[in-house]
Amino acid sequence: MEKYTVVSKLDEVSKKIEKEIDDRLCQFDFIRDDENPETVIVVGGDGTFIYAVHQFMDRLKDVRFYGLHTGTLGFYSDYQDHEVDEFLDVLIHHEGKEEILSVLRGEVNGNCYYALNEIRVENAARTQVMDVYVNDIQLETFRGTGMCVCTQLGSTAYNRSLGGAVLQEGLDLIEMVEIAGIHHSKYRSLDAPLVLKSDSVIRFVSESFEGALLGVDSDVYPLEDCKKIEIKICGARHIRVLRGKKVSYFDRLKTLY
Ligand code: NAP
Repeated sequence: MEKYTVVSKLDEVSKKIEKEIDDRLCQFDFIRDDENPETVIVVGGDGTFIYAVHQFMDRLKDVRFYGLHTGTLGFYSDYQDHEVDEFLDVLIHHEGKEEILSVLRGEVNGNCYYALNEIRVENAARTQVMDVYVNDIQLETFRGTGMCVCTQLGSTAYNRSLGGAVLQEGLDLIEMVEIAGIHHSKYRSLDAPLVLKSDSVIRFVSESFEGALLGVDSDVYPLEDCKKIEIKICGARHIRVLRGKKVSYFDRLKTLY
């Protein structure tokens, strides 16, 4: 018996689809297990997918995720709400292929934080001054609201709103973009999105991060009593995603605007 659970958005359409999924899967070799599932079926949007992965962040080796979008086309899912039968056929008949997604890891004072989309340092209270290092080389002293570091999949999320480049699927890269940097005759920083190889290590160092927050996908944490934040792709954690039909990356992209 394959153990599965469903994480769905709270709207009526998603909840109805969750029921359809339970009704159909119980007719096959599947049993619902919300505590120890092997497959986490996600019904909702990209935001729901991120929420679901965070629920199982400490058990990524044991679970895979399979998404159905109840809005348009998502970046984390290949099926829409009118394709429930096709979506389930792939699971029931073991027809899908697993794709591996990278996870970003942020380390602050010995505590680790993990993200699918991005890790941000944001200070809305005062100008954040910090030295930015890439692979131990000091790139610049940044002044402004903060910095956003994203994965390829996260490049279409907050990164895109900040003017960051959209990274095509299949590119295992990380990207760093400024959040409201201050640039004038006295202070200067790169002021352009920086796309880096996946083994790059980014470090933000400051005498004070007072008032700043560490944003990790949907979550935020205060950055009190911290002088250094290190961000890189996590070698030890990956997200396994079941992919069914092939959806063109550019068709997904078109649904964004
Ligand atoms: P949320 O409501 O879950 O998501 C906000 C919007 O971002 C939703 O429309 C969501 O799509 C979309 N989104 C999430 N990941 C995406 C991706 N990889 N590519 C394209 N669109 C994506 O908000 P939240 O819980 O506060 O934050 C979750 C994520 O949303 C964050 O990691 C951040 O990147 C993004 N976000 C962006 C902005 C912005 O651009 N100004 C503001 C807030 C949050 P669905 O409708 O499919 O769920």
